[in-house]
Order: sequence, then structure tokens, then C-alpha cells
Amino acid sequence: MTAISVRNLSKHFGKKRALDNVSLEIQRGEMVALIGASGSGKSTLIRHICGLEIGQAGQDRAGQSRIEVLGGAMQDGGRLAAKARNMRRNIGVVFQQFNLVGRMSVLSNVLLGNLGHIPGWRGTLGLFTAGEKQKAREALARVGIPEVAWQRASTLSGGQQQRAAIARTLVQRSNILLADEPIASLDPSSARRVMEILAAVNRDEKITCVVSLHQVEYARRYCPRTIALRDGRIVFDGPSSALTNQMLVELYGDNSEELILPDAPMQPAKPRRAPEPDRVPAFA
Ligand code: ADP
Repeated sequence: MTAISVRNLSKHFGKKRALDNVSLEIQRGEMVALIGASGSGKSTLIRHICGLEIGQAGQDRAGQSRIEVLGGAMQDGGRLAAKARNMRRNIGVVFQQFNLVGRMSVLSNVLLGNLGHIPGWRGTLGLFTAGEKQKAREALARVGIPEVAWQRASTLSGGQQQRAAIARTLVQRSNILLADEPIASLDPSSARRVMEILAAVNRDEKITCVVSLHQVEYARRYCPRTIALRDGRIVFDGPSSALTNQMLVELYGDNSEELILPDAPMQPAKPRRAPEPDRVPAFA
């Protein structure tokens, strides 16, 4: 079944063309990396898929833009679909900046993921049920940080905050997880751990994951499929292991750190066991 379908999507901000006639299909259960240089359109595409941004009708040559999520229209011809609000509940989003409420406990932040299932804002976290709190604690254990449940979110490290943000999407019970540069501000060890968690969630909970990344090495290591954007257009869509240095030069330029060193090839993504909370394997 198709999880995400994007057809003929264009987006202009004034004269700036952020997306140019983008079409793609992502099947349920896939783990897909979205790569490209800064400004290539990765965030804009993610924001369209989750309905935070509306595409432009009739800008493209091939027909009206349309985005479907799990078979239902999210937006069509430059308009948000009537059911888009309900459909957003199927999509968990993780941003680079974590977006946790720093003054609240980590557990309270994770509980906020339940709001997608509550008809209307209930105003106080005291209204969450014991079952919901238990599920939030389980989600924190799932991402390997059960011990920080009662700490203020602002006291966590960047990697811990990102894991709490992932836990918040897990309690939302969405079928699709969109992560917009989730490791961009993390040190390599925290970045690896966050990617391991996303890969485990994809494999074990069968959640479709789309992860935008600047770092190609992580796409090759954790995501079987990569979609590459340049100037708002898809220039590569295929197995991550098929990415070549020449493609990367076209994406990032000649002096790019993203080039795959011939003497240190990354292992392509393959199914792995769930990571131990405190022992995440290093890069091969
Ligand atoms: P990426 O995520 O790959 O870094 P973005 O999707 O953030 O790229 O941006 C794509 C292009 O669209 C950039 O040139 C950016 O400056 C522009 N852009 C994105 N959002 C806006 C906005 N709200 N207003 C104006 N320009 C924008």
C-alpha cells in the first residue's frame, strides 16, 4: 500500500522556486532518506507532506499538484483537503530543533503526543490517564532514556532531547514518521543513536520513515532508499548503495565532505537487530 504519494508538486516563495514539479511514491514500511544541499527543498517537501505548507496549483507543466497520505487526499490542486486535519494524526513529525517545552518534564512533553487523539485541547496534563502515562514511559524506554522522565526537558543533552521528541511521536501512534534533519545539530555518537532508533522503529513498528539528512553517510548506512533533491527537483531516487561520488559532486560540489571515500566504503543498509539501549554499534 502506498503511504505517501506526491504528484506534480511545485512551490514558489516569491520568485524563489523551492519545489519544481516533484512527484514520488513511498510504500508503507519503507525507510527513505531525503538528501540534498542546504536550500534544495527537503524541509519544504516534508512540510507539504504533513500539510503545514500548501503546494501551488497549476504552476507545473504536467497537471495539478496532489498529495495523498495512506490513500487519502492531504491536498489537491493547491487546497488543503477537508480531512487533512484528521489525516495529520497519522503523521508524526520530528524537527531538528526538537521543539520540546523546556520548562516541562520530559514525560509531560511525551504525553503531548496524545493530543492528536484528544478532541480539543484539554488544557492540563493532569487529565492524562494512568494508561497514557504508562504508554509515555514505555515510549521513553523504547528510545533508551527511561531515567529522564521527571527531568525538565531543558536539562537534557541534544541527543536526549531528540530521542524524547521521537518518543512523543510514538505515543501519537502514527503510521508515518517524517524527520526533518533530526541529526543535524548532534554529535556523531548521538546522531548514530538517533538513526538507530529511527531504523528500529521502522523495522519493529512498521512505521514508514522519511528522514531528511545532510549527511550522505547516514543515508547509506540506515536507509535502503534515497531521494536526492537539487534546486527543488528530484535528481536521484533509488537504492542508497547506488549513490556515486559523481552524483554527490553534483549535489554538494567538488570539495564536499559528503564524498564517499573509495578506501572506506560504507556498508549499505540491511536489517539489523534492535540496538541495546546503551550499546549502539559504531559505523562499519
Ligand atoms: P532544505 O531543507 O533543503 O535546506 P528548504 O526546503 O528549507 O531547503 O528551502 C528551499 C528553498 O526555499 C530555499 O531557498 C529557502 O530559502 C526557500 N524557502 C523555504 N521556506 C521559505 C519561506 N517560508 N519563505 C521564503 N523562502 C523560503
